[in-house]
Amino acid sequence: MSADAAVAIAPETRLEEEPAPMRRKSIVVFEAHGDDMEFTCAGTIAKFTAAGHQVTLVVATNNDKGSFELTADQLRAERDREIHAGARVLGIGRVICLGYSDGELRAEASLDVLRERFMRIIREVKADIMFTWDPFTPYEGHPDHRAVAMAAHEAASFAHLPLYHPEQIADGLEPHYVSEQWFFAKSPRDRNKFVDITATIDRKVEALCCHVSQMVLTVRDLQFALEASGLDVPWLAGLDPHDYRDVIDKQIRAVARAVGKEGGFEYAEGFRRTRFGGIERFARDQELAEDV
Ligand SMILES: [Zn+2]
Repeated sequence: MSADAAVAIAPETRLEEEPAPMRRKSIVVFEAHGDDMEFTCAGTIAKFTAAGHQVTLVVATNNDKGSFELTADQLRAERDREIHAGARVLGIGRVICLGYSDGELRAEASLDVLRERFMRIIREVKADIMFTWDPFTPYEGHPDHRAVAMAAHEAASFAHLPLYHPEQIADGLEPHYVSEQWFFAKSPRDRNKFVDITATIDRKVEALCCHVSQMVLTVRDLQFALEASGLDVPWLAGLDPHDYRDVIDKQIRAVARAVGKEGGFEYAEGFRRTRFGGIERFARDQELAEDV
């Protein structure tokens, strides 16, 4: 466009035609195991990546326990492939695997060690938004989930304070303020954000089904419970665990539909979310914009 043509356009028209470019946000997801994100927030993450935001996935363990069929070595290799396949489906740009032993995170890394590693990643990727397990939810039985939840929450809360891990600052990183913390949970409490995932639920299911070993495990676990209970559910008892697709699809949709009912959407994911440490209470007539 020539300078003359630019002058001919009224300023208000220019504003409409050329909206300010969206700022790409950096999002980090801290999970314990390769499929935690897919079960809890994949529909939401798919919306963030579709809108152009950058997502880093951090997997704390090497996922080497969840199989009745594979050796630990086979499972580690298989699950690495599954994690990257699921991440690709969701448009995630970077995956960081920390490699602690599945189920033994507590023993292998203290809260302080894990918090330090998470804080370094937060400062490296300059995370605006963090997703993780809710450290304050009840009935969370998995020690790895609890460990990741508290370490991630503490790391995100203090990463902007330069006196925390000054050796990271000496390494060239900068203190970094994490604006938002989004918590997911198996038994959620105080959910205050529901995301409409009607447009992305197919990708959630697809990403989940990339975790073949874990979907097989999920069906086998159901069969163990059925057998132990003495109840009679012939379709489940006779199901080949490798034919998991239908069961998983139905299960995921049923959960998302129930959450959707609460949030006012066909399918939804729900979170307990804090933004800017609750600063909006000081600005009662103003609202923060929503990304998704
Ligand atoms: Zn898990």
